[in-house]
Formats: sequence, C-alpha cells, structure tokens
Amino acid sequence: MTGSAFTLAAAPRGQVYSCEGCGKCCRGYFAIAATAADADRIRAIGWDDDPALAGVPLFTGSGDKQFIAHRADGACVFLDDDNLCRIHKRCGEDAKQVACRLYPFILVPEGTRARMDIRFDCPAVAASRGAALSTHAAGLRAMLPSVLPDDAVRLPAPPLFGRVTVGWPALLRITDAVLALLAAPKLDLTRRLTAVVTLSATLRSRRIADLDGGKLDEVLNKVVARLLAAAKEDPLTRVHPGGVNLLLFRQVLGVYGRADRIGERADVGERFRHAWRMLGGRGTVPPLQADFPEVPFAALEGMFGVPEGEAAAALTRYYRVKLQALGFCGVPFYHRSFLDGLDGLLLTYPLQLWFARLFAAGRNLPALDAPAVHRALEVLNHQFGITPLLNLPTERYRHTQLTERTTLRALVVWYGS
Ligand code: SF4
Repeated sequence: MTGSAFTLAAAPRGQVYSCEGCGKCCRGYFAIAATAADADRIRAIGWDDDPALAGVPLFTGSGDKQFIAHRADGACVFLDDDNLCRIHKRCGEDAKQVACRLYPFILVPEGTRARMDIRFDCPAVAASRGAALSTHAAGLRAMLPSVLPDDAVRLPAPPLFGRVTVGWPALLRITDAVLALLAAPKLDLTRRLTAVVTLSATLRSRRIADLDGGKLDEVLNKVVARLLAAAKEDPLTRVHPGGVNLLLFRQVLGVYGRADRIGERADVGERFRHAWRMLGGRGTVPPLQADFPEVPFAALEGMFGVPEGEAAAALTRYYRVKLQALGFCGVPFYHRSFLDGLDGLLLTYPLQLWFARLFAAGRNLPALDAPAVHRALEVLNHQFGITPLLNLPTERYRHTQLTERTTLRALVVWYGS
C-alpha cells in the first residue's frame, strides 16, 4: 500500500544509477523549499553542537515559504566536508526534504500511473553508473503521496498538437512507434533521429485523431517501416541550417549553457558580454561555465562524424529514458503538446552535440568521445524542462522556428555527422 492514488509504472530499461556522493546537487543549483513545519522539524534536531552550524541561519524566507540556506560558496548549509548531508547522517534519509530524497528522479503523472524519469545533470546518471533503475522503485513508491497529489490523476493527457486530443492510449502507441525507430538495428543514431523528425511532422494531421487503436497501430507500423527503409538510404547530406537559424540556435545554446547558482551575485555585464558573443558566433565560445574550454566557434561547425560507441550509447539511453518516462511533453515540459515536446526533445540532439563538440574540441579530439557526451548531457539537462526561461515567449518563438521540419532535420544532420 502506498497511500497514493498512483501506481508506479515499470522503470525505464537500459539505464542505471546509484548516487556516488559527489555532492554536485547540493552545491547551490537547486532551491529546496520548506514549509514552516519542515523548518521547525529540522531546526529542532539541534545544530548548535556543530561548529559549522552554530549560530548560522538554516533557512531563508518565512512561514510556509522558506528555503534551506546556502553558504557563501553556494553549497547547502547542511552539506558536510565529506559531501554528505548532515541531516541524513544524524537522522537518516527520511528526515531530509522530499526534493533532496527524490533527486535525480522525477515522477511524471500519466493517468493513474506515475512514470519514473531521471535527470541527466547528475554525473552518475549521464554516465549510467550504478544499479538498475528498478532497484529504486520501492523508495519512489513510498514518496508518491508526497510528490504527486492525488488530484493529479485528473490531469488530462497533453494534446497531440494544437487542440487536437487523442488521449493517453493513442499517445502511448505513438511513443512505442518512436521507440521502435530509436531501436532500429544497423542504423546510426543520426539516421534514426532524422526518421523521428519525419514521423513527428507526418503525425501533425487531424486524421490521426479519428483512428481507433487497431487502425492507428496499422498506420504507425506502415509509416515506421517506410521511414526505416528511407533512413537506410539516407546519404545524410549536410545542408547548412541557414544563417538566421544558426543565430537562433546559438541563442538557445546560451540559455542551456547557463548554470546559475543560488546566492551567486549575477554579473549582469558579464552575462551580457557572453550573450553578445553567443549571438555573434565569432572568435571563441564564451566561458558560460567554469569548465568550458576556449574553442573557436568555427571549430564546432565542421564534420565530427556520427556519434559512435559509448558516445552514441549514452545519447540513445537518454532518448529511450525520456520517451519511456514521457518526460518530454505535458507537465514535464512546460505543458506543451505531445508533438511540440517531441520536437523539443529532438532539438536537444544538435544542442547536446554542439556542447559535446565543444568538450571534444577542447581536448583536440576530431570526434566525440564518451566524456564529451556525458558532460554535454549534464549541461543540457540542467535546464531541459526545468528553467522557466525556456518557457518565455522569446524562447517559444525560437523553439518554433528551430523545430520546423526542414530546419530541425538540417540541424540534426549538421551536428550529427
Ligand atoms: S549529483 Fe548525483 S551522484 Fe552526485 S550527490 Fe547528487 S545524486 Fe549523488
């Protein structure tokens, strides 16, 4: 018994994770909210015998709108020198705030089921190290009542596109078709994703909404077979995505490349200079984050080849998890429709490959390797579906422009080969 209106769906396959205690998620990237009762409970543990916490404010804000305080270096006040949580060490995991216990998992409502999604900004997730996700099911099941309110079962399925609704069963059938394309044997990842770009564009038809389950399966099977046959013959001709589109693309990269930290005073001048350099695309890439190497923009526009080996495997795992978890549309992605969310997910491919190229070029590599892709996954997924910036009208406009079928395909091929 979970005491929740939700049941937990089967865990996504092919991805593993165990916390390695690196402490990255406790170093100022997340605001951990607390009610007055939460704050009183944690204060009552008594911290004055700990020299690091004696007399230190533990929370900011007041009443039911409080947040766990951060030190001057951005780290959570409860983070100990050994990268472990002081609350956890003293009172056990259950004493921590639910957001801290949940990370890096996300629970996505789908009718009465909760899908298990996971954030790839955690290094252990990006590199897929640890235990099968199914081993975390019991802990997540226990958290369901705290994470998903019972009335969330009434949330409607996102529309297929615009105002065209088809309901969860049809959306799940379409998700299976996308997963079938992603799993296509003997096809590289770039060709598989170009096929998904075409599928997404093909499904933007009101006629899809009129098909019943069996007929929809029939149509999807035929379309998938046709797309696979076409993808096998696809020469992946690199067509320049267009000057204006690359300009918009670099602006979106600038948003995804940010890693603002709580308590860090924003240097508005520096932020403006970085944005200006991203817009211009000349000279070297600005250091949006401390580990961004100084690489000329021009060095990232050539051919790096299609991702292979662990570089391709890591990206494939990422897309499989996001699809199985439905972590790309509706609630997890700014309440966008299924196909807008799918296009947003497809756009992450050239975006992540641009970051991966940056990290590979910083080590003078002519092709992508696993560390470059793992780091790119971390960078992008700190923002995907999370930052409110990506939901602003300007970003929605850029998203619409860049996910137009021809442009999106050009970007996928340009950075994916
Ligand atoms: S970032 Fe990931 S591995 Fe590091 S402490 Fe947080 S959950 Fe654990």
